Amino acid sequence: MTFQTRIQPSRRSQTVLVTGGAGFIGSHLCDSLLQRGERVICVDNLLTGAIDNVRPLLNHPNFRFVECDVRDPLCIEGDIDRIYSLACPASPRHYQTDPIGTMKTCVIGTMNVLELAQKNSARVLQASTSEVYGDPEVHPQPESYLGHVNTIGPRACYDEGKRAAETLMFDYQRTHGVEVKVARIFNTYGPRMLENDGRVVSNFIVQALRGEPITIYGEGTQTRSFCFIDDLIRGLALLMESPPSVTGPCNLGNPQEITIESVAREVLACTNSASSLRFEPLPKDDPKRRKPVIETAERALGWRPRVALQDGLRATIAYFALRVATPSPVLLRAHASRDTSRIARARLMIASRQ
Ligand code: NAD
Ligand code: UDP
Repeated sequence: MTFQTRIQPSRRSQTVLVTGGAGFIGSHLCDSLLQRGERVICVDNLLTGAIDNVRPLLNHPNFRFVECDVRDPLCIEGDIDRIYSLACPASPRHYQTDPIGTMKTCVIGTMNVLELAQKNSARVLQASTSEVYGDPEVHPQPESYLGHVNTIGPRACYDEGKRAAETLMFDYQRTHGVEVKVARIFNTYGPRMLENDGRVVSNFIVQALRGEPITIYGEGTQTRSFCFIDDLIRGLALLMESPPSVTGPCNLGNPQEITIESVAREVLACTNSASSLRFEPLPKDDPKRRKPVIETAERALGWRPRVALQDGLRATIAYFALRVATPSPVLLRAHASRDTSRIARARLMIASRQ
């Protein structure tokens, strides 16, 4: 069954608030909600989002951008039917820069969102994460797995923050009757990730396009399962519009598991880049394996990902190719020759001129 047939296009349009709406996932969600005819209020403090992500929407009659921080109480005028709670830096580089701020965003931010939901009798969907499973000892990960998180490590501000946010969702449901949905999102990639985001797919693509070494942390044997943004957006919308009894937690991710070294090789092949591989130390508590069990999403939502990694990578590469600063013609010609010593000479020449 397709998404369109499941969410009844004839009903009245909704007012949907998206926190983190100027971010990577949030901006795609805003696009898709507007295309469905909803009124969208995008709330963001632009910490890791970019106004450019929503710039084409700013003049849309059904779109409103509100620059504010979810750690402050949310004063939004008018009725709200749905809230997607996405505000939170998602890249380890960014969420570890201000760990206390990240924890506050997850806990205080989620409480503020839930207060607003309660006031408006709105349904709220929380963007949780596969990080609630930590460095998992069960593989692949079903929603029933309770996780293996280091509570005092550098990733804990995010992992534990997101776990606390899930707790708040269900406590507001039990205590105040708020209608809740929890999506546990696995690694998602696509256009509009930041160039300096630090996450693996954007790093590898930018490095490959620039002809810089591809930075593999550890031996590259750790695995992830990568979901293309379009698949995720479809899954989030289906979960939001599912019957009230479907609360989640619901894994949303692509079960195709791949090693990080293989991702590097795919990116090199798709970009036709001659970048070398550079192995760097593995960050502390980096999960070794990650792959979702998606039976809940298949059964309750009729959802499974459709976009193969190679196709998603090509779309993402096309996006970055327009943004990554074009290297000098000398370096481009050197890359085209795939002659590594020629590339090294070109780099030396450019460096000596700077
Ligand atoms: P992102 O960093 O691109 O987007 C997050 C957005 O939230 C940004 O626009 C940022 O400016 C905004 N934000 C951050 N703190 C805020 C605050 N205190 N108040 C208001 N706005 C704030 O990240 P993303 O990949 O789009 O992730 C969106 C959500 O999905 C996050 O909650 C993240 O934890 C979750 N998630 C993402 C992934 C993934 O692979 N992309 C995986 C699991 C979970
Ligand atoms: N990674 C890497 N090189 C990079 C960025 C990340 O090898 O330039 C690795 C990282 O150590 C992790 C995997 O890629 O094992 C996914 O990292 P990312 O930050 O994208 O997501 P997360 O660790 O949160 O799943």
